[in-house]
Amino acid sequence: MTSMEIEDPTAAQPQPEQSPRRLRWCSPVLGALLLPLALAGQYVAAAHPDWIEEHYSQSLFPRIASTLARVSTRVPVSLAELLIVVLVVAIAVAVWRALKLLALRKGTGPRRVAVLFNSGLRLLALAGVLYTAYLASWGLNHHREPFATVAGWEVEPPETWLLVEFACQVAEDLNTLRAELEEDEEGVVVIEESPRALGRLARKAYANLEGLHPSMRKAPGVPRRPFASPLLTASWITGIYSPFTAEAHINDEIPAMQLGFVTCHELAHSLGFAREDEANFLAYLACKNSNDPVLRYSGALAVWGYLVRALSIANPTRLIGIVERLDPAVVRDLKSMQEFWVRERTEFTAFATGLNHNYLKSQGQTKGVATYGLALDLIAEDWRRSQPDYQAEPLASALEEVSGRTVKIAFIGGCMIYGGGGAFLSLPDRVGELLIERGVDSRIYNLGSCNQSALQSTSALDAAIDLGADIVVLRFGAAELGAGMRIETMKTAFQRLLFTARRAGIRVLILTSERPGQARHVQSAAAMDQMIQRQAEIRGARVVTNYTKGLPDRLGALRSDMEHPNYAAVLTMGKRMLPDLLSVIATVRKAWALGLVEAEPESEK
Ligand SMILES: [Zn+2]
Repeated sequence: MTSMEIEDPTAAQPQPEQSPRRLRWCSPVLGALLLPLALAGQYVAAAHPDWIEEHYSQSLFPRIASTLARVSTRVPVSLAELLIVVLVVAIAVAVWRALKLLALRKGTGPRRVAVLFNSGLRLLALAGVLYTAYLASWGLNHHREPFATVAGWEVEPPETWLLVEFACQVAEDLNTLRAELEEDEEGVVVIEESPRALGRLARKAYANLEGLHPSMRKAPGVPRRPFASPLLTASWITGIYSPFTAEAHINDEIPAMQLGFVTCHELAHSLGFAREDEANFLAYLACKNSNDPVLRYSGALAVWGYLVRALSIANPTRLIGIVERLDPAVVRDLKSMQEFWVRERTEFTAFATGLNHNYLKSQGQTKGVATYGLALDLIAEDWRRSQPDYQAEPLASALEEVSGRTVKIAFIGGCMIYGGGGAFLSLPDRVGELLIERGVDSRIYNLGSCNQSALQSTSALDAAIDLGADIVVLRFGAAELGAGMRIETMKTAFQRLLFTARRAGIRVLILTSERPGQARHVQSAAAMDQMIQRQAEIRGARVVTNYTKGLPDRLGALRSDMEHPNYAAVLTMGKRMLPDLLSVIATVRKAWALGLVEAEPESEK
């Protein structure tokens, strides 16, 4: 009750002259205590995320948010903006009253101090009420369990090769999605959906995520178009969530292709995900799982931004290669987006960013505005999890079937150019383990990732012959298409390879990719698949299809794999990016000669 009295410093204010003396002093003092109490409560909450998760974020908060949303959705415009206007007017009136009171009491020193003190207390009380309301209506969500903890994920910054492979896929997705969208006379994408329609799409997209986390449900409220959009643009703020009214505000002045992602970001806040990285991550997921190309494109553009930032530090050279894969239409969109934000940068931008930075830090997001970018860790982890297993299992079955009981298997191919080599690195080991489990006495030779297509790997095949391999596993993937070979050239190289293998009495097992990379480098990815199938048939090779989108199951083991002496060649490869396969093979041979590579591979133990 005390706080209610203090909440409105104007209308509900008891007349100071007529109030009983005790009440006049007591209520502001009690009200002023509210702020330190709220801060202490927040401090305690931060130490007990499990309790907050269970009793607040998953239990009390959804009820509070939907009650607030029921009220705010009855108002046709943003209720939060209306309340801000009321608050500003109320504070202005209170200040004016205090000044008037001071003017009336000129000359009486102690009384003047009393008025100032009283006003200060009331201001503090108002801050206390607002902050308590903020924490109760939403703010405590900053202290819930992190998404990764609830989901049981171990999240770490993605490794460079994962960034590379992921970026390749996003580039492809952007190209495909962009082709489905319209563009204006300047060649920039046109989003025909109104912000309201995008809001509906975004809410529907979240419905697809049900089951991902206990807090996933229908987002309360409707996204709002704020009157303050120009101010938000000048602050470089794309959207803002109002906890007091459970309203997601979307700045509709921003480039249209960003609207979908921003709407999903603000809806994540309305579902109780307060951390900025998690809101970005969920927005990405919602966009990715949406059926609508507009949302999907918007989400892909957002994650592209994160990947570009990460790769520009981790491996700028590869980044350039991936950027070159973008369709010119996508590049035009990215450019127009960038131009927009550069144009809108004002003196105020840095101030607003600083404000946001400090606000986020005060709420336990220690990295401040850098928290937004941390979303990439979660996004990359999700992507890693969405990859099919490398199919070591079907591969081992295929090998078991074609092999005798003792067999030497050499792996060739798996291109480092686009990062697929990382996957290929662990696959042989995993296959070896599985074969041992099945009682197949196998020797596994990883002839390493090549810097060129498997089709140009005749030297690797020579090495396999030298080793007396019984089976060669040849991997076809993005590299074969990315290498820019024409189908006819491929066919000749492939025939030669199969012929050599056959003459040496080596059986060949071919792994092809479900996602055949950059289709624009060849006439048709399907044509390549067809050619492989046909030639394999003629030459008696076996084809295991749908192999690899390319990531190792045992990400953590990758580094130790690379340190293993058996991987001397790959180690060299990864570090120095040798210009061609011949150098790699030469390195392998030298390593054998020097005794760096053990004669008995790991898998035999
Ligand atoms: Zn946010």
